[in-house]
Amino acid sequence: MTDESTATKEQQAHASGDEPDTKQELHEGDGAGARTDKSQRPANESDQPQRAEVSNYEIVTHYFDQAAERLGIPDDIATVVKTSYREVQVQIPARLEDGKVHVFSGYRVQHNGARGPYKGGVRFHPEVDLDEVRALAALMTWKTAIAGIPFGGAKGGVNVPADDCREEDLEKIARAFMDKVEKLLGPQRDIPAPDVGTNAQTMAWMMDEYGKLHGHTPACVTGKPIALEGSFGREAATGRGLVYLYEESAEELNLKPEDTRVVVQGFGNVGSWAARILQDMGCTIVAASDASGGIRAERGLDAQKLAEHLRGRGKVQDFEGDGIDRISADELLETECELFIPAALGGMIHKENADRLRCKLMIEGANSPTTPTADQILADNGVHVIPDVMANAGGVIVSYFEWVQNLQHFRWEEDDVNERLREIMQRAYREVRDKAEEKDLPLRPAAYELGIERVVEAATTRGYIHMGD
Ligand code: NAD
Repeated sequence: MTDESTATKEQQAHASGDEPDTKQELHEGDGAGARTDKSQRPANESDQPQRAEVSNYEIVTHYFDQAAERLGIPDDIATVVKTSYREVQVQIPARLEDGKVHVFSGYRVQHNGARGPYKGGVRFHPEVDLDEVRALAALMTWKTAIAGIPFGGAKGGVNVPADDCREEDLEKIARAFMDKVEKLLGPQRDIPAPDVGTNAQTMAWMMDEYGKLHGHTPACVTGKPIALEGSFGREAATGRGLVYLYEESAEELNLKPEDTRVVVQGFGNVGSWAARILQDMGCTIVAASDASGGIRAERGLDAQKLAEHLRGRGKVQDFEGDGIDRISADELLETECELFIPAALGGMIHKENADRLRCKLMIEGANSPTTPTADQILADNGVHVIPDVMANAGGVIVSYFEWVQNLQHFRWEEDDVNERLREIMQRAYREVRDKAEEKDLPLRPAAYELGIERVVEAATTRGYIHMGD
């Protein structure tokens, strides 16, 4: 678990002779998209064969560059808006189960704060590095702007293999991370939340650690347990948000829940909640996966029972039930369905596998799950894609509600939370769809344009940037 890797992703790709997906296309322009991680201690690398070599940073930068060009934003202004405001890397030494001190790298990137305090999750995953966190922070800037909630964009992470760690080790690491970055944080500065490998318990430890220095401050993190001023509805919010957008687009695509078969790639927080809520509406969950592999059941699998099975640290492939087959990552993609939900990590739908998808609608639960080349393949195949930057905003929207409740120390009912979430998700969807129709664009570039316009307007109005004559 020590951080001994010295090769960046790009060096590894060269060494293996792999040609990164859409590399040529992504590196056209000013070259900023080609930046590799320059941190002194790049994170551990793992060999996930299903993931594309194109990085999340390249994906986000690609969409930004194209949108900025269409909007006619001058290059100098575009550079201010594209790059991070602040990037911090910290050392996290922790003595673990084996009695040795392991050194992890922690990151907090504050991308843009023009529209409000920085907001974004903290990821615990061995592949976390500065490049990845930078990309996810930028995505948060556009996401909060598209949703129209008063936050900027940030992200954090530690390159710890959370799945293999004991609870007490994760607590040490969460507290140490908070100790190292607390000066950058606070309810009016920057508010973390859970992401991959972290959860409500992680937020509780982080809040407690922050409180030792600043006094009881529940609004310093969101996604907390209900017992610690967490919000009703927060845990399910990202998955529920995907379902609200399914409802919106199902009408357009003439889909009914009873005729909708669903495949979920990554049955974690986001994927499992989306599946459970869709199942309650009458949809059939026909396949699901996690990092261990996948399962398929033509007549449907019980998403509720699968989620309960996983709560005890079970694996998707160990789940037993009538008519369940164990399948590979490829077979999951090839499963016939109406709705495909990627809810694992970035870059999982790429040029080598996008053609295999057999769905009408894809709603992106994960951040940057689809590379630009794959996006084009899906468009050519007539798949309606609702992009991450609007689709998975449910989590940060209910985090916003949690922050508002914490500032007032006043709790809302769960129905109020869900109803307000629905209003914001559906408003954002309609605003993006209107822009897409007006400019004859797919939803993703239209969403980026909307987000960028709002951020540029806020930055200009504050006087942080001046557009010139
Ligand atoms: P999680 O850790 O709860 O779940 C991730 C799941 O993906 C796990 O089941 C894991 O086993 C699985 N996975 C990992 N590698 C895989 C692989 N190669 N194939 C199949 N499955 C694999 O994390 P989460 O909070 O559900 O986040 C999932 C995605 O959604 C991430 O991209 C995250 O950034 C994004 N997201 C999360 C939130 C949130 O509120 N939690 C909000 C917005 C976006």
